[in-house]
Amino acid sequence: MKPGSYKSFSELFQTLDPAEVSKQVLSASSADVKAAISKAGHCSLEDFAALLSPAAEPFLEEMAVQANRLTRKRFGKTIQMFVPMYLSNECQNICTYCGFSLGNKIPRLTLSKAQFLKEIEAVKKWGFEHILLVTGESHLVGMDYFLEMIPIAREHFAHVSIEVQPLEEEDYLKLHQAGVESVLVYQETYNEESYAQHHTKGKKSKFYNRLETPEKIARAGINKIGLGSLLGLADWRVDAWFAGLHLVYMREKYWRSRYSLAFPRLQPAEGIVDPAVVTTERNLAQIICAYRLLDETVDLSLSTRESKRFRDHAIQLGVTTMSAGSRTDPGGYQTSKTELEQFEISDERTPAEVAKMLTCAGLEPVWKDWDQVISG
Ligand code: SF4
Repeated sequence: MKPGSYKSFSELFQTLDPAEVSKQVLSASSADVKAAISKAGHCSLEDFAALLSPAAEPFLEEMAVQANRLTRKRFGKTIQMFVPMYLSNECQNICTYCGFSLGNKIPRLTLSKAQFLKEIEAVKKWGFEHILLVTGESHLVGMDYFLEMIPIAREHFAHVSIEVQPLEEEDYLKLHQAGVESVLVYQETYNEESYAQHHTKGKKSKFYNRLETPEKIARAGINKIGLGSLLGLADWRVDAWFAGLHLVYMREKYWRSRYSLAFPRLQPAEGIVDPAVVTTERNLAQIICAYRLLDETVDLSLSTRESKRFRDHAIQLGVTTMSAGSRTDPGGYQTSKTELEQFEISDERTPAEVAKMLTCAGLEPVWKDWDQVISG
């Protein structure tokens, strides 16, 4: 398969049957896994399927060794640090797994400029230079609001990323000109049926609109694009394979952009469903190693959704980017209230404590992102 030869990712996606992908993953043998490990960093999508298979589980140690080797070769002994900041929890979508979902009776808040500046002041004290701005999806929080807030963020941070609703190419162009370096848009699940069950109302229910968004971001010249799926909505092996395919497609076709992958697991929040499929920490470690063996250049990002213990181990697998001290509610860095939050976090250490853990593990926490200097 040559993913980049398709006109669009949607076109490629529609040629594939998730049931066949599942069959391919489940039928991989130990020999397939060993062959894939021997090609670490140059794996095909068939190898990648083997690395995600049940047959790969006994080889997790070997995969971890290769993942660590490739990560150190490419990224050195560093972990990039970032802090998420929620600008608004207004949302007109119903997503069954999210605390901000329209039906949830929670107080809603969109930060004013003055509140935003106070939040900035709070996280700057910790030393962050990379901020991820997050919102729900609401007509109250659109391009006018983003274009007001992003220049403020640019004044205070070396790197500004956003995770907001899918936008049009011309909007991404404007955001790029305003100083946005990275845009994250996770597909949540590549299983259309499960997607429909978990996104029952609002613009987010349009599966293909979301699927096509990373290409709009790339065409607008955004430097870095975040892909991924929310683990817990459908079979994690199949979702991780499709996220890998999406990455390979984007890399082949839009090679000027850089990419990151995230692998959040469903976490508790106000009014949300339990995961339909459980992804254990061991499964998550397998996914991280498989992504690294598929692509030695991709940033792998791990949030505070995961436990302290898991995060401390994951830094030796392939993770290159971490958040710390995170709050998932607008205004959360100035208050200790949690009723506005999107989901509960697990690793509650301060950024200084996380940095100390990294240093003790022989890694350097990097607070500054130099990309904008390089990309001009
Ligand atoms: S996941 Fe995003 S779009 Fe869905 S309810 Fe939550 S904030 Fe809104």
